[in-house]
Amino acid sequence: MPFQMKYEIIPRYLPGPSKRRPMLPLARCRFMVAHDTGNPGATASANVSYFQRTSNDMSSSAHIFVDDNEILECIPFLTGPAEKAYHVVYNVTTDNARYGADANDAAGAVELCHGGRIRLTESYKRYVWVMAYACYRYGLNPSTDIAGHYMLDPARRSDPQQPLRQLGKTFSDFVRDVEEEYRASVIPEPQILISAEDANKMIRFLSASYFAVNDASAQAEFHRLANELRRISGQPAQ
Ligand SMILES: [Zn+2]
Repeated sequence: MPFQMKYEIIPRYLPGPSKRRPMLPLARCRFMVAHDTGNPGATASANVSYFQRTSNDMSSSAHIFVDDNEILECIPFLTGPAEKAYHVVYNVTTDNARYGADANDAAGAVELCHGGRIRLTESYKRYVWVMAYACYRYGLNPSTDIAGHYMLDPARRSDPQQPLRQLGKTFSDFVRDVEEEYRASVIPEPQILISAEDANKMIRFLSASYFAVNDASAQAEFHRLANELRRISGQPAQ
């Protein structure tokens, strides 16, 4: 089942191996962590540029930054083979209790950019969509497999509650929005109504008719009908 790619995810990878991007493979993505940058007014691009400039200064990072214009991936996660990002300290235990693993070893990290000139509702739409897409890509359940950073490290973190509050939303509202986006974006498999074999037999008749007429509009119609038969028999259009 394909997923509707409403937005582009732009890769802008940090240099690696570096402290922020050690280039270690993320063996398996078990859950997602929702963050916000805590840096009002800084765009996705500004955040990634800052990480690029400081790639060897410290080990903290995230996979994706989202603002009202762009979804930038600075550590491969959805645009390339997934690598680890360091976004939740190792010595907290909620991630282990809930998902059986440390976030840094088993989760994708998405940062919501907000504040200043960033249009929060637009940022939020992209944030919800990219979370839904990540759940789809890694076979996660949006209702149980998304944690807020504040849930994993309540003593030190509150993200992404502040921008959510600005939108009048709770974290549960956010999860519900992701569930809804997920449902709306998964494109169901075409229903197969006849076998490919039967369809191809009929297509051969249409093809004979196509070559028997000299009229372009009649030919276009035979072509359309052949593709309809391909569609309902689960074959690609030609
Ligand atoms: Zn965070």
